[in-house]
Amino acid sequence: MILDADWAIRWMMAARQEVAAQRDYLIDLDRRIGDGDHGENLDRGFCRVGAVLEADPPSSVQGVLTVVAKTLMSTVGGAAGPLYGTAFLRAAKSCAVEPLTGAGVADLIAAALEGIQARGKAERGEKTMVDAWGPAADAARAAADAGLDGPAVLRAAADAAEEGARATEPMKATKGRASYLGERSIGHLDPGSASSAMILVQAARAAEEHR
Ligand SMILES: [Mg+2]
Repeated sequence: MILDADWAIRWMMAARQEVAAQRDYLIDLDRRIGDGDHGENLDRGFCRVGAVLEADPPSSVQGVLTVVAKTLMSTVGGAAGPLYGTAFLRAAKSCAVEPLTGAGVADLIAAALEGIQARGKAERGEKTMVDAWGPAADAARAAADAGLDGPAVLRAAADAAEEGARATEPMKATKGRASYLGERSIGHLDPGSASSAMILVQAARAAEEHR
C-alpha cells in the first residue's frame, strides 16, 4: 500500500465512520471525568472533514492533513479542536517526501505529538492524549529504524496508542479538566487518549486495506 493522498483520504473517511460509531462511548468517557462533549465535538468535526474532502479532494498527503487541521480547528469545540488541529497541522508540515516511507510515518507522528505538547503543555503520565501519541511516536520510530515499511510502522503506532490509552485508566489526571477531580479521575480512561487511539488505528487500517 502506498501512503499517498488516496490513503490519507481513506484514513479520514474511516476516522469519520469510527468516531460516529464510537460517539456515545466517547461522550460516556468524557461524562465520567470531563464535561461530556468530546464525542459530539469530534463527530461534528470529522463529519465536516469528510464533507470537505469529498467536495474538493487534495492531491497530496500534506494537502489532506492541512484541510483536516483547519476543519477540526474551526468545528471542534473545547480543548480537543486546537489540540487535534495543531497535531494535524504539524503532521502536514512534516510530509516533505510523498508517498510516505516508514521514516516518513514516524516523522508524521512525532510532529503531531510535538504539536499537541506545544499547544497543551502536557507531559506523559498526566492522563491526556499525550499518553496515546507519545507511545505511538516511540513505537513508530522504533519500527521505522528497524526497516519496516509505512503500513507496518502505522500498525506499530496504532497498537502502542491503544495500549497507551488503556494505561490512562489507573492514572490520576494532573492536566486538563479531569485534573479538577484529583483522585476521583482514577479508574476512568482519558477520552482524548481513547479518541487518539481510534484515529491512529484507522490510519493503519486504511494502509492495510489494499496491501
Ligand atoms: Mg470535554
